[in-house]
Amino acid sequence: MNELVIGIRERYTRICREIEDAARRCGREPGEVKLVVVSKAQPIDVIQAAIEAGVRTFGENYAEEAVEKMKQIKATENLSWHMIGHVQSRKSGLVAGAFDYLHSLDSLHLAQRLNQALAAVQKSMPVLLEMNVSGEESKFGWPAWDEANWDRLVPELDQLQQFSNLIPTGLMTMPPLMGASEMARPFFGRLGRLRDFLAWKLPNFKWTELSMGTSADYIIAVEEGATFVRVGQAILGPRPVR
Ligand SMILES: *Cc1c(COP(=O)(O)O)cnc(C)c1O
Repeated sequence: MNELVIGIRERYTRICREIEDAARRCGREPGEVKLVVVSKAQPIDVIQAAIEAGVRTFGENYAEEAVEKMKQIKATENLSWHMIGHVQSRKSGLVAGAFDYLHSLDSLHLAQRLNQALAAVQKSMPVLLEMNVSGEESKFGWPAWDEANWDRLVPELDQLQQFSNLIPTGLMTMPPLMGASEMARPFFGRLGRLRDFLAWKLPNFKWTELSMGTSADYIIAVEEGATFVRVGQAILGPRPVR
């Protein structure tokens, strides 16, 4: 086994254990939290090493880059590919064809286009609704930073019911980039409360999943109820600069 595989395996195993410990500490089932290893911008040899180290679930941000990499990867194991970045609606076909999960559904327009693309390949896809809980203008996602305005989201999100090839399962967010991981906690907490609110207002959907937490703050995210954490650099190492 080469050094790349050994390094990734060590970090992957340690982080899996940290996640399980954090879940147990707050009285949750350790198996409830799923780790998505973010391989965006990582070259094929790193992904190939991650597979050898036992990783099966990968997260990617750019549809074209991901599809290119998927073609080159050799794996006998079943891999699961999660789209975690903003999707332009004209890329819906690529996402429908290549991915197993979408974490970043951020508009009805994308929902409609993706639903069409999925129907064309007779597939359905679990999706998470991306929420902007910080109010940063650079962020994608439905506006959800002001709890007093959550009621306004309800009629719009209710329309997702018409897209029968999409299976909404919960919410996703990306908190502001900050120095200390503890500073993400209020944003994760807000996403959890929003989930509870929507589960009450829109009981026809499933609201079990919360995708939040990256290399910087995955422990905090688990403490705040994450069921998916998306960790890249802490496992695969720094991303090459392009
Ligand atoms: C890049 C990225 C991550 C992972 O970030 P790391 O710092 O590599 O852990 C998680 N989520 C999203 C949406 C990302 O774009």
